[in-house]
Parts: sequence; C-alpha cells; structure tokens
Amino acid sequence: MSNISEVYLGVDIGGTKVAAGLVNERGEILFKTRTPMDSSGSADNALSCVRSAIDSVLFQSNLNIRGIGVSTPGSVDLASGIVVNPYNIPCWRNFPLGPAIRDIYGLPTVVLNDANAAGLAEALWGSGTGRKLVFYATIGTGIGTAIVYGGRLYLGRTHSAGEGGHMVVNFNGPKCSCGKSGCIETFAAGPAIARRAQEAIQASPLEGKGLLETVGGDLSEIRSETVAHAWESGDPLATKILEETVDTLAIWFGNIIDLIEPDVIVVGGGISGLIAKWFPRLREQTALWCNNPHCHEISFVEAKYGADSGIAGAAAVCLTEKPFIS
Ligand SMILES: [Zn+2]
Repeated sequence: MSNISEVYLGVDIGGTKVAAGLVNERGEILFKTRTPMDSSGSADNALSCVRSAIDSVLFQSNLNIRGIGVSTPGSVDLASGIVVNPYNIPCWRNFPLGPAIRDIYGLPTVVLNDANAAGLAEALWGSGTGRKLVFYATIGTGIGTAIVYGGRLYLGRTHSAGEGGHMVVNFNGPKCSCGKSGCIETFAAGPAIARRAQEAIQASPLEGKGLLETVGGDLSEIRSETVAHAWESGDPLATKILEETVDTLAIWFGNIIDLIEPDVIVVGGGISGLIAKWFPRLREQTALWCNNPHCHEISFVEAKYGADSGIAGAAAVCLTEKPFIS
C-alpha cells in the first residue's frame, strides 16, 4: 500500500483472545493477528498474552508505528490508563494496563472501553461515516453502547457515561450481572436469547420439541445461534423468541431516540448479523415506542468492522487527538 504516512497498532483484548493489528489513517486494517488470552491466572500472565499479540505484529512490520491503542472490557480510567474492573478478566482489577504497555514499548498508549472504541471506529470510518450523532450498540455476549458526536465520544463528567446496555426496560425482568434487574442486556444479548428459549421449551415442551431436537435433546446446548438457525428453518417457537427480542429492543431504541435523536443507529457485536435480518420489524416496532415524529427517518445499519471492531476502534482512539468531548 502506498502513501502510508502514519500507522497505529490496535489491540483488542477479550476474555479468551487478544487480537492486534495495524491500522492506517483511513481505518484500513493492514495486518492482523490473534493470540489466546489467559484471564484466569495472574495479572502479569494476562499482560504477557497481550505482549505476545503486540510482539507478533511488530515482528511482521517495518512500518513506523505512531502509537498503541487498546480496547478492553469494562471501565477504564482514561487519564491514568488503569483498567478498573473488567468482568471477564478478573485478575485485572485496578490494573495499570496503559502505563505497563507504554513502559514496555516506549510508544504513546491509550486504553478505552471496547464498546466506546468500536463506536468511534464506526463513526469515523464505518457505517456511521459522515453522520453527526451516531448511536452505536454492540449486541453479543453482553450489550455495550457508545454515543459519538462530531467524531468524538460523549463520556460524561467522569467518563462513565454511554452505558446503555444497562438501561432497564422492565423492572420485573431478570437480575442482571450489573446488580440491577431487567436491563436490556438480560433480554436481548446472545445468552439472554438462549436462556429465554430454554425457559420457553421447559414451559411448553410440545411447542419446544422442534427447537430441542436441533440440539439432540440437550436443553443446555441451546444457544442464540441455535435459535437463529431454527428461525431460518421456520420453527414457530424460535420465531416467537426472536420477535420478542426485537420488540424489547424496540422499547430500548425508542427511549434512546427520544433522548438523543441520533442521525443513525449502528448495530455491531456477535449477533448483529441476526439483528440486521430483523431491521424492518425493529424499525416498525421502535416507532410504536417513540414520541419523536421523525423516528422513522433514523436508519438502523449493521456495523462495518464485525470481528475487527476492537482493532479498528483501538487505533481510532489512538490517532484521534481528542477522542472524547470534554
Ligand atoms: Zn445490567
């Protein structure tokens, strides 16, 4: 590739893997790699997993790397680069990840929450490009969100805002991992779809027979993917579960539109492909839960970066001089 003046190293840390890659100023991923993450041992052990991902990118590249961006689960203290409490990397409670990486590689290093990073990449280079106010939702094992205005993240006074996945849509709903009850995550994240399908099969074995047969009769094997496949083959219970999922998401999006009126809603994360197939119903239902008379003008689009959202997002944070509104 020609005319590359600046390249950034994006690192995407998850509970089981570390992905890392080189990203240019146009948001193009030039090279990427993936290594296992050990989040069950010591903090230093987890850090060495991150180091091996970074090292393998550096080993492959003779480009001039300007900085390292890191996307990680949970909240991050932006000023210090300390990872506060990532739920799937328990050994990193109050861990100084940013300073540790900066010390090792001698490069400017920025650490940010993964949903915020991915949302910034979508706004700068992805499905939200050219739109002033982008609402990004990642729907996968959990639900995370980001609000990007004019190419910058809105994070609030203490950088703790934008946690839309834990907005309550039904206070009689299930207990959430965050401590509240009935968050949208407890209805519409991948594990929530699987749990609701399992409950429906138990409550109505006759209706659930077809769905249960797809996993050889083992209820615990039901996943959101199982429900998605069964729906595509016309299974009525799977269809009902997904209709309820979309209708609950519509309540949530209706609230969000009434609150911030984004120009576009970008949906990413592990089950975004499934949700995208339901966009027509989601649009229709959202209008029922929204007072904004221009609700129908707001488009729902699938995220561009898919599984690379963390790498692109981390690089986006690193190359943006002021990545958030302050
Ligand atoms: Zn919650």
